[in-house]
Amino acid sequence: MSDSRYHCRICGWRHKKPPWGLDGKTPFFTHCDCCGGEVGWQDRTVDLVKKTRANWMGRGSPWFSKGMKPEDWNRERQLEDVPKEFRD
Ligand SMILES: [Zn+2]
Repeated sequence: MSDSRYHCRICGWRHKKPPWGLDGKTPFFTHCDCCGGEVGWQDRTVDLVKKTRANWMGRGSPWFSKGMKPEDWNRERQLEDVPKEFRD
């Protein structure tokens, strides 16, 4: 299992750099390549994370950076990498 600090709180996608920094307090204010969630805004509280995730899934889980989507992408498997305090 990889370091949860590197994973999107909304969708579990593994970022190249930890989206909230290694201290977990320094958000990058970037968009997640997968869910498009805004790091530092849409993922700043558990409630917002869950609302943003439900909205993303309700839209059919579109990729923000379509070219980044792995051919064998499996949403459910990726969601298992969501840091545990932000899971449903
Ligand atoms: Zn994401």
